[in-house]
Amino acid sequence: MHREDKGRGLRTRSIHAGERPDPVTKASAPNIVMSTTFAVEDASGGFSALEMADKDAFVYTRWANPTVRQLEEKLASLENAEACVAFGSGMAAAAALFFRLLSAGDRLVISDVAYAGVAELVRDTLTRLRIEVVPVDSSDLDELRGAVRARRTRLVYVETPANPILRLTDIAGAARIAHEAGAELAVDSTFATPVATRPIDLGADYVVHSLTKYIGGHGDAVGGAVLGRAEPLADLRQDTAIHLGGVLSPFNAWLIMRGMATLPLRMAAHADGAMRVARFLQDHPKVMSVCYPGLPSHPQYDLARRQMANFAGMLTFRTAEPLRVAQQLADRLRIIHYAVSLGHHRSLIYYLATDELQKSSFRLDAEHLARYRKAAGEGIFRLSVGLEDPEDLCADLDQALA
Ligand SMILES: *Cc1c(COP(=O)(O)O)cnc(C)c1O
Repeated sequence: MHREDKGRGLRTRSIHAGERPDPVTKASAPNIVMSTTFAVEDASGGFSALEMADKDAFVYTRWANPTVRQLEEKLASLENAEACVAFGSGMAAAAALFFRLLSAGDRLVISDVAYAGVAELVRDTLTRLRIEVVPVDSSDLDELRGAVRARRTRLVYVETPANPILRLTDIAGAARIAHEAGAELAVDSTFATPVATRPIDLGADYVVHSLTKYIGGHGDAVGGAVLGRAEPLADLRQDTAIHLGGVLSPFNAWLIMRGMATLPLRMAAHADGAMRVARFLQDHPKVMSVCYPGLPSHPQYDLARRQMANFAGMLTFRTAEPLRVAQQLADRLRIIHYAVSLGHHRSLIYYLATDELQKSSFRLDAEHLARYRKAAGEGIFRLSVGLEDPEDLCADLDQALA
C-alpha cells in the first residue's frame, strides 16, 4: 500500500489508490495500456523475468503491465495487503496459489463447502500430483484443529461466506490454528469483499478473489487475484503468473478497476437490498426457509456481526418441489435473470440441487453430507441481489413464485 493511502477511507481508496493522472497528457482517468512490449532503454537488461535487474520495470505484459499494476495496487490498498497479483480468472488465482505452495507429500486442509471449480481442482488434479487433500467443516474450529494438527499441513484454505450455503469460518480462529501448526491460511473472500471483511487484518496470509463477482461488479469481465505479503507474492508472480501464464488482460483490468471505484457504495446498496428481499422471502408462503448472514436466523449470526462490516448481497432460500419452481422462475422472472454467477448490478438466481452439487464437490462422508443437507435440503435457490429497487425485485419474485 502506498504511504499516502494510509488513513484514507475505503471510498477514497476505491477511487484513487493505484491511479495518478497520466504524467504526459494529464488525463484524469487511467489510460488502458494494451501494449504487449515496452521499449527498453538499458540494453544490458537481459532476456528473462528472472534476470531483470529492475523488477518494477515494464518489459513484457505477461511479466507486468501498467494498467494491471494499477488494479493490483488499488486492490492491495483495499485489502490492507502488501502486494497483489492479478490473474485471468478467480480459478487461475486459486490454482496459482495451490501450485506455488503445495508439493507432493504436502497436506491441504480445505473447507468442505467451496466453489465447485476449486473443489474439483483440488479433488482431482492436486490429488493426482500426490498432494493430500483433507476437506473439513471449517465452521467447526475443533474439527479444523484436529485436521491441521496432523503433520505436513502446508496450507489451510477456507471460503467465507462459502458458496453456496453461506457457511462462515472464523478467520482469526482459523489463522491461529494454522499458524500453531506451522501452516499458512488462505481465505477466498469473494462473497465478502474488502468492504465486509479484510482477512489479512484478521491474521490470514493470503486472500483470493474472483474479480468477476462484486469487485468488477458489472458482469462484463472475468478476473482474479491473490493478495498477501510482498516476498511470497513476488515468488507467486514469478512461478505462476509469469510461468503458468494465466495473466489478466489490461482491458479487463481497466473494466474491473472502473467497477471498483464504486465498490463501497455498491456493497452498501447490495446489503440493503438483500436484507429487504430476505425479509420479504421469510414471510412468503411459498418459501420454507431463508439463509442470509444479516438475519438473526443465520446459524452463525454472531460471527457474521463480528466478522462482516457488510452482509453483502448473497442469500439462499428453499421451497417445496424446487425443480418445478426452478423452471417456473426461469420462465416467469422478468427482472431477475435465471443465470449462474453473482455479485453483479443485475440480480441473478440459480437453483443448486444438492445431489448435483455433490458430484462437483468433495465426496462428503455421511456425517458431513448430513450437515450440508441440514442447511440445503434437496437444494437451494441462490439469489445474488443486485442494485435494482428492492421493491421491484420482491414484486418480480412474488409474481414468479405465485
Ligand atoms: C466465481 C468464484 C470463483 C472462481 O472465479 P472465476 O472468476 O469464475 O474463475 C472462486 N471462488 C468463488 C467463491 C467464486 O464465487
